[in-house]
Amino acid sequence: MAKKQEAEKHESKKDETKGAMTADCIFCKIVDGKIPSKKFYEDNTVIAFLDINPAAFAHSLVVPKLHFKTIVDGTPDQVGKTFIGVKNVTEHMKTRLKCDGFNILINQGREAGQIIEHFHIHVVPRFKSDNIRFIPPDHKASDAELDQAFNKLK
Ligand SMILES: [Zn+2]
Repeated sequence: MAKKQEAEKHESKKDETKGAMTADCIFCKIVDGKIPSKKFYEDNTVIAFLDINPAAFAHSLVVPKLHFKTIVDGTPDQVGKTFIGVKNVTEHMKTRLKCDGFNILINQGREAGQIIEHFHIHVVPRFKSDNIRFIPPDHKASDAELDQAFNKLK
């Protein structure tokens, strides 16, 4: 009896470990099929589905099946295979939508606008004269600013 309880305890502890990472994650639930999505692509590593708050027509998200938060948190293998998935999804979208280009965007960390803490890549198909503009700040760096950044990075 005690042994069985111990086994159950161990089992529930295992679930908690998984739960801590994924229980409240909306993208894990979409990957598991617990939340419906307009999923149009799936391979061994990623799924792709339509963003419900699209910046443009057919704005899609590529999401790895395994939960990790950012490009820094994923293993090289997980991140590499996720980007192969992005390439495949983008080719699929180009074929089906006949779009003229893409914006491919990744927000990493809350400060950068990452709302769902499960790595994902936005693929936004673009069409001639769609009049969508992603506007970065209009800012020309000084030599001192470039040197400061370069000295930290080199
Ligand atoms: Zn997740």
